[in-house]
Amino acid sequence: MSGQDFSRRSVRRQLSGEGLRPKKGLGQNFLTDASVLYDIVDAAALSEDSCVLEIGPGMGVLTRQLAMRAALVTAVEIDRTILPVLEKNLSDFSNVTVVNQDILQVDLEALFAKQFGDKPVSVVANLPYYITTPILMKLLEAKVPIKTIVIMIQREVAERLAAGPGSKEFGAISLAVQYRAEVEPVRDVPPEAFEPMPKVWSSVIRLMPREKPPVVVTDEGHFFRLIKAAFAMRRKTLVNAVSHEASLGATKELLKAILQDMGFDEAVRGECLGLQQFAQLSNEIIAKRLSK
Ligand code: SAM
Repeated sequence: MSGQDFSRRSVRRQLSGEGLRPKKGLGQNFLTDASVLYDIVDAAALSEDSCVLEIGPGMGVLTRQLAMRAALVTAVEIDRTILPVLEKNLSDFSNVTVVNQDILQVDLEALFAKQFGDKPVSVVANLPYYITTPILMKLLEAKVPIKTIVIMIQREVAERLAAGPGSKEFGAISLAVQYRAEVEPVRDVPPEAFEPMPKVWSSVIRLMPREKPPVVVTDEGHFFRLIKAAFAMRRKTLVNAVSHEASLGATKELLKAILQDMGFDEAVRGECLGLQQFAQLSNEIIAKRLSK
């Protein structure tokens, strides 16, 4: 197969050839726009010696482009029934390994070691939207050498990941991701670029995992529990929301005193604090709580 047929018709024909239909429950919206495909692959900046993990190859439209440019591609696909189509479309390539598993159940450390040794890996995916956040957090928390992550996700989620303090999109997930990676927009993608068409716009983003966090925190567990508590009750003040969470050890009085030292009004809400300020707040709570 030399040229690829990206049309909607081709997607339907290939699926129906195996008696299949797109599975909504698995987020199966197949890419049918070549310009989007090339923008994703270009953003990954692959070279002949690159190692790539693809999540959700589907029928292999992206996998083929990755296999043409990289040394090794491992593609994890949950849907066993689509494998005959995928394997047919990948038959010209000897550098692709398909793993039929749920990415959320995969032991990433073991998979990376087996497929790529200790080489740096680029993750590239048109993600299933129903599990974008758990997949992303799994990638960012795993102890594996990820060089770059280029993913297509729902535009609304992309906006949340890149948001800063003060905007309505800003939340716990923005901080959790930005603590671990730099987030860069690549492009927006309309529903018409897929078969079947999703209801929403999508975005391609690139994440560059950080070698070390941009802020110093005394206790990461406390820091993330503090962030979660601060955003759990968005309409409450930070003092009310955080003092509610007993495990943080922060009384209203302590929080008010720290916030005042930091130059904030005691009625401030969580969405006004950035990474640096949450780090400072967490560190101060721990220091003052322990010094009692
Ligand atoms: N890469 C293909 C493309 O761009 O046309 C398909 C993308 S489609 C948005 C998402 C793919 O992820 C589907 O093939 C779906 O079966 C697969 N998928 C869904 N949940 C998964 C999971 N938990 N683990 C691995 N793959 C999954």
